[in-house]
Amino acid sequence: MTTIGHLINGEIVNEGSRSQDVFNPATGKAEKQVLLASKQTVEQAIACAEAAFPEWRNTPAIKRARVMFRFKELLEQHADHICKLIGQEHGKISHDAAGELQRGIENVEFACGAPQLLKGEHSRNVGPGIDSWSEFQPLGVVAGITPFNFPAMVPMWMFPLAIVCGNTFILKPSERDPSSTLYIAQLLKEAGLPDGVLNVINGDKEAVDTLLTDQRIKAVSFVGSTPIAEYIYATANANGKRCQALGGAKNHAIVMPDADMDNAVNQLLGAAFGSSGERCMALSVAVAVGDEAGDALVAKMQNAMTGLSVGAYDNASNDFGPVITCQHKDKVNGFISSAEQQGATIVVDGRNPEVEGYDNGYFVGATLIDGVTPEMDSYKAEIFGPVLQVVRVKTMQEAMKLIDDHEYGNGTCIFTRDGEAARYFSDHIQVGMVGINVPLPVPVAYHSFGGWKRSLFGDLHAYGPDGVRFYTKRKTITQRWPSSGVREGVSFAFPS
Ligand code: NAD
Repeated sequence: MTTIGHLINGEIVNEGSRSQDVFNPATGKAEKQVLLASKQTVEQAIACAEAAFPEWRNTPAIKRARVMFRFKELLEQHADHICKLIGQEHGKISHDAAGELQRGIENVEFACGAPQLLKGEHSRNVGPGIDSWSEFQPLGVVAGITPFNFPAMVPMWMFPLAIVCGNTFILKPSERDPSSTLYIAQLLKEAGLPDGVLNVINGDKEAVDTLLTDQRIKAVSFVGSTPIAEYIYATANANGKRCQALGGAKNHAIVMPDADMDNAVNQLLGAAFGSSGERCMALSVAVAVGDEAGDALVAKMQNAMTGLSVGAYDNASNDFGPVITCQHKDKVNGFISSAEQQGATIVVDGRNPEVEGYDNGYFVGATLIDGVTPEMDSYKAEIFGPVLQVVRVKTMQEAMKLIDDHEYGNGTCIFTRDGEAARYFSDHIQVGMVGINVPLPVPVAYHSFGGWKRSLFGDLHAYGPDGVRFYTKRKTITQRWPSSGVREGVSFAFPS
């Protein structure tokens, strides 16, 4: 069985008395074991990152960026292997893994602009002979803690930008699918990153708690479920750290009576069931406005879903793969059953699908549930599985109130042909990322990603311009070189 260790100071280190099985979710077999770092191992990594910081901080931004240019090339060169590692441990079909990787690479491309991003702000003659400027300095050692569902992309939301800003980094990936993340970090070493600038620690709560409490860690980026995000944010703050903690979601799509229904159905299929619904931007609730739209939507979805195929990652004709663990499969099935018990109609039932040759895989088929109401457990929770629930309402205002009343506010979308309705929706809805006839409005790398309400704890969104602000601290310098013209006497008052 392969053992997965840590990357500390540029070397693979197999340390840790505790370990955990890493499963192939399509077969249900444990094929690897990941070592779970102890407090001491994490502290060793932090010490290496701290030692690497002074030199890296003073390395010109253009030279830091050059490492990222080479890294991008290596990521593209080794894309097939990265997608295979993702498929083996996450279960994502190869075409979807390729999309995830591409979105990660786009963040590396953004990081390549470091010299431009870090130029700062300058004002000449703010007073007689006085110039003032703000520069953006790195924080020191910063940490990232990431979820299982995007083992390549989400870490690349964080470390490329943090590193080009001059910080050194400790990454704690998900212990459920750590191999692609570790491999990617090794590519960055191959690209020329000095040892100690990026360290990867595999582990669980013990590793995370060490990062949250160690005074040498200056900032923490987290992406994962809301209860953990809330804990991370509170603990990091209590320990004096800057923190951005992105949490869970329940993304609604409003389907208006005037929508292009065939287009809406096509978009909903991919957004609800792609990656088995294990995306924080998955559309898991369709809110149909009016009975006619509701009936048409359900009928067309039901029809379209007959052609979907669930299976293993290495067959590109599959639409999506298994869910991550056996326990998660039971949880998703449990939510489908609870909706049924609480009065909803299971239109297409994906519980326990047959996948030939993969009897022990954690598969859930695409599921469509109609007649869902806000009181149901399946409506309140983030299911994180291939389940689309339909809620029927009479007006667009009612649909918007549903969305605003939900605890999460990550993404949302409206399908309509009415520009006025779409503009009103995007202007007023209490959600951080909004699509208009775009089902997964994930911001591109040169914008920033983040939800509202209990989908994000902190002030700054992830990556893009907000990421640059998150990974730097502003220092404002005011300068005067006394000369005969501007030399002044003593003054006890603010200049007026
Ligand atoms: P998770 O919260 O279980 O784990 C995320 C990370 O936190 C992992 O590295 C894990 O090791 C660590 N962790 C777990 N329990 C911990 C504890 N008790 N103490 C300290 N650390 C702990 O999330 P997951 O199941 O890996 O990922 C799925 C979740 O992530 C979903 O809720 C999804 O919506 C969310 N997510 C959000 C975004 C976003 O941008 N908002 C993006 C991707 C995923």
